[in-house]
Amino acid sequence: MTASIPEKIREVRHQISHFEKIYQRPQGSVMLLAVSKTHPLESILQALECGQQSFGENYLQEALEKIQALALYNLDWHFIGPIQSNKTKAIAENFSWVHSIDRSKIAIRLNEQRPATLPPLKVLLQVNLDDEKSKAGIKLQEIPKLAKEVHRLTNIELAGLMTIPAPGKSFAEQRASFHKLARARDELLAGGISTCRHLSMGMSGDKEAAIAEGSTIVRIGTDIFGARN
Ligand SMILES: *Cc1c(COP(=O)(O)O)cnc(C)c1O
Repeated sequence: MTASIPEKIREVRHQISHFEKIYQRPQGSVMLLAVSKTHPLESILQALECGQQSFGENYLQEALEKIQALALYNLDWHFIGPIQSNKTKAIAENFSWVHSIDRSKIAIRLNEQRPATLPPLKVLLQVNLDDEKSKAGIKLQEIPKLAKEVHRLTNIELAGLMTIPAPGKSFAEQRASFHKLARARDELLAGGISTCRHLSMGMSGDKEAAIAEGSTIVRIGTDIFGARN
């Protein structure tokens, strides 16, 4: 029999807690973001049964339908997909976090469009560590400049850095990549951007290496909801 969604969430939480222990991370320091993209409302309702509160979505239209249908639950929605500038208003109005900032134009629009009635939108800069042409994100060397631009904006808060490493790496290579992102985050903190605490790194296949290197948010889809079509 295949495990239910609540059972799979409990299993992932158990893994996170185990990795926190073996890599000497404080218990509870890694947040689980359940990536529900392409999965139906019914799957999210099942995840709610075991207290899951934070969900990640990549496609705006799909996300808005879910957010509206589940408005009563006061969930935390994270936008983790590529952002076109004509989508920023709906993102600013409906999400608590955005993990995929890769240019100042998008940050400026989100800042202007964030409703004054909501707390600042938490944003992370997406970093393309492997210079993959096909993937969004800025290069490591571009982080300080974009961070400074985002840090000036008052309706969004620079909360950290995010990455999606190239597939097919060994465990040691995964750790080496994640280590680079952690160093970059440390430099921003040392440079006085005290809100920039988070490292959004680690998915179903590389969460152990990410937690070993200091991840504070793992983005897990497949291990919770099963394979996507
Ligand atoms: C789909 C997606 C995930 C989830 O990946 P899994 O391998 O299914 O856990 C995480 N992060 C981003 C940005 C994604 O697009």
